[in-house]
Amino acid sequence: MIYPLKGVVQNYAWGGYDFIPNLLQVENEEQQPFAEYWLGVHPKGAAKMYKDGSWQELAKHYQVPFLLKILDVRSVLSIQAHPNKTEAIAGFAKEEEKGIPRDAFNRVFRDDNHKPELMYALSDFWLLHGFKSMKDINACIDETPAFSSLKSHAVYLSSFYGHLMRMDQSKVDEILTQLKNEIDQQEITDKNHPHYWAKKSFELYGLDRGIFSIYFFNLVYVKPGQAIYQKAGLPHAYLEGQQVEIMANSDNVFRAGLTPKHMDVELLLDHIVFKETQVNIIEPTMEDDLESLIKSPAKEFELSILTINHSNKSIQTHSEECYIVLEGEAQVEDQSFAKGSSFFVEPNQEFTIKAKAAKIARAKVPQ
Ligand SMILES: [Zn+2]
Repeated sequence: MIYPLKGVVQNYAWGGYDFIPNLLQVENEEQQPFAEYWLGVHPKGAAKMYKDGSWQELAKHYQVPFLLKILDVRSVLSIQAHPNKTEAIAGFAKEEEKGIPRDAFNRVFRDDNHKPELMYALSDFWLLHGFKSMKDINACIDETPAFSSLKSHAVYLSSFYGHLMRMDQSKVDEILTQLKNEIDQQEITDKNHPHYWAKKSFELYGLDRGIFSIYFFNLVYVKPGQAIYQKAGLPHAYLEGQQVEIMANSDNVFRAGLTPKHMDVELLLDHIVFKETQVNIIEPTMEDDLESLIKSPAKEFELSILTINHSNKSIQTHSEECYIVLEGEAQVEDQSFAKGSSFFVEPNQEFTIKAKAAKIARAKVPQ
């Protein structure tokens, strides 16, 4: 069966005001930030399916191992990393044992799952993605006078990053005040330069040590239609743009700055993988004329984009699948789905999507 699906909007402060309301074709009269739209079974934002004449919890009827999202990043998000599966099971059990409520401010492991993430850019997109090499970190220190006192620490990645994260706030203030003074005198419009994002972050978060990561992580630009994958332990932060994101069904996040949310530095340092990251931008591969697949190593999900113009796409499902119409309108059997609407399909179904012009995100479990 094919069921209409209704997701959940998350109004996080960093979200944009227009993109998601336009997509969902809803008003945003109160100018709320529409940061994320969730399609999945996570208890923090569980989707509903239309079944037997009423909207019912999808989670009541189906297991869905992935969480599909639309993100609109207006302002810099927290620097973060996610646990691997073993760490998530252990961390969750420990916090349950301590009796920390699952929605408490200082709760880190909100579930016992890992959270590999794949993002597909719908617009120009910028993010921080993994550590630069020590060589590039040193080059960055050399060309940034405010960082001169960091030079003697820049030998090994783990001790260098540990130093940045554990440094007294007074020392952080000293370095970042100098950096801010250097930047404030310059006109900076290049989004591929860390100064641009540092300037924005000073305005939002003040002398926040997360600003170091803007310089020592890879600053990556992703073109619309390209994707990037983030595995466990890889530190990252989204900076600006719109995207489709898919992940294992989890909300476990270690934070490392640029956030008013809870930060546990020692826990973060225990779980980050200290390794130089080679940036691997993923170009989708065409499955057939209408479907391009975004390959990733994740076992919980597979994302593809359907572009259907005056044609029909036949689909056979092998797992639970979620779809969201990004552009245009799609006809699925006898149901019609406008831009922003979603549907859920059971395993072992055969059906056809027809459209005059539609772009649709499709999420499933790899075979
Ligand atoms: Zn993340």
